[in-house]
Order: sequence, then C-alpha cells, then structure tokens
Amino acid sequence: MKGKCVAMLRLLLMGVIGVFLSAGVQAGPVRIASLNTVMADVARNVGGERVEVEEIVHAGVDPHLYEPAPGDWKRIETADVLLAGGLGFEPYLERMRPVLANAGVRVVAGGDVVTPIEGACEGHGEEGHHHHHGEMDPHWWHSVSNTRAVVMQVRDALMAQDPDGRESYEANAAAFDQRLEALEKWVRLQVVSLPKANRVLVTSHDALGYLASEYGFEVLPVQGVTKSSQPSSQHVTRLIREIKERRVKAIFAESLENPKVLGQITAETGVRSGGVLYADGLGKGDASTYEGMMKHNVGTIVEALK
Ligand SMILES: [Zn+2]
Repeated sequence: MKGKCVAMLRLLLMGVIGVFLSAGVQAGPVRIASLNTVMADVARNVGGERVEVEEIVHAGVDPHLYEPAPGDWKRIETADVLLAGGLGFEPYLERMRPVLANAGVRVVAGGDVVTPIEGACEGHGEEGHHHHHGEMDPHWWHSVSNTRAVVMQVRDALMAQDPDGRESYEANAAAFDQRLEALEKWVRLQVVSLPKANRVLVTSHDALGYLASEYGFEVLPVQGVTKSSQPSSQHVTRLIREIKERRVKAIFAESLENPKVLGQITAETGVRSGGVLYADGLGKGDASTYEGMMKHNVGTIVEALK
C-alpha cells in the first residue's frame, strides 16, 4: 500500500515538473513580428533557422508615417516576440503594451539598451518655439556600437524564449558581432580620410545624430527627429547661410520622402546633391542588410565630402 502511494506521488511529481519544463520549451520556430527593419536583420542573423521573421514594417515603408492596421495588430498579437526600434520611434507602441503583455508577446525594443542622445535643436536661439529639447533621437542604428549592444539584447531575448536554442543563438551572435566589429573599424577608417572641416552633414531630417556623435560629424538637419513639423522659413534661411559660409560640399537626400525645401536649398546654395542615404532603416538591394546599409551610407557620405 505504502509503495503504491510513493509510486503515485512520484508520477504526480514528474507530471508537475513536466508542466514546468514544457512552459520553457518553444514548439516550432520562434515567430517574430518586426516593426523595424534593422531589428529584423539582427533577428535573422542571431536567430538563423530557429526563427521566422515577419516584417510588418518593411523596407520602403516610412516608419514615421506607419500606423498599424487591424490586420497588423492580429499578426503582432499572435507572435512570440515583437521587435521595435524604441525611444519613441513607434509612438503607438506604448498603448499596445498592455495588450501584448496579456497576449504573452515578448517585446524587444532596441532603444532600451543604447545610451540615447537628444535630437539637434532646430535653430540656435532666434526662434524658441522650434526647439525640441528633450526629444530623444530614435535612430540609434547609425552607430555600429549601438547595434552590437542590440545584437546581445536580441540574443538574450531569444535564449529566454527558446532555451533549447541557447548554443545556436550564442554562436550566431558572436559571429555577427565579429563582422560588426570589422564594420566599425572600416567606418572609422573611412571617416578619418575626410578633412575635419568637411565633416558636416546636411540632411533632410535629423536622423544621423548617432553617426555624427560616434564618428565625429556635425549635422545640420532641415527637419527634426520625427518629421512632424515643417521647417520655418527663418530656419531654412539660416541653414542656407550656414551652408554657404562653411562651404559645405554636398547635401544628402533620403530614400524615403524628402521635403521640397531640400530642392530649394540645393538651388539657392548651388551645392550639389551628395546622393541618397538610408536614414530610417534598411533599403533594397545592397542596402537590404544592416552591413550593406551602413556601407552605402558611409561610402556615399565620404565620396561626396572628400
Ligand atoms: Zn527618421
């Protein structure tokens, strides 16, 4: 009688342990929904064949203008992991969070693991209402060291989601990090080849602050970090004066939407267009990977400003 009881107890205990164990086991590939093209590329590199990445915001969509459609909500709520840029890049994310927590979706926002910088002031004192003090710049991926921190963040999130894949995620993250270390060295060598006085970036919106602070450029943006406000005519006039005085060699367009005012500045200063940069995420072709996008941007900048 006593032996039977012990046997039953053991069975029961094994059942309980089994339930605990299975709670941590991922059935099938980790389903990842992504609101940010850089995050999606990181997840593909770190996740390899253990993940399925669905890009809800994909290359060619302007993330500043994107709002989730009802169908997108469904795809997001049924994912295991949601990737976002963070730092306010997805203004709708905060009202999504309670719903996602209920649905058991793990949210990974890259901006959570970088040291944020503030967007540049539009103007220097003359027009107080155009200052955006305290507005964080969400375009963190233009610094490779930020992206390397995000690689580790994604690795840790995937290991928590899918503990069986631990070794694979660790190996993939280490290999990707090694390539990013090489990329970072390449970027620094490129920038060093430019005379210091030439390291000025005139861009249509304030998206390259991290590139500037990490590698030593000054940014003169036409618009702020969000594209939400149109530049005032005083701001444009001052920018034109500054471009002429400092003999800026080139002005850069962006792959997604450009204010008409960029054409006006090019016309009034006679400065040529230095080419198109990917400011808000990855692009097509060569720029469809993070490494390709960085090489395109830095290559275009250095070629135009040297
Ligand atoms: Zn932007």
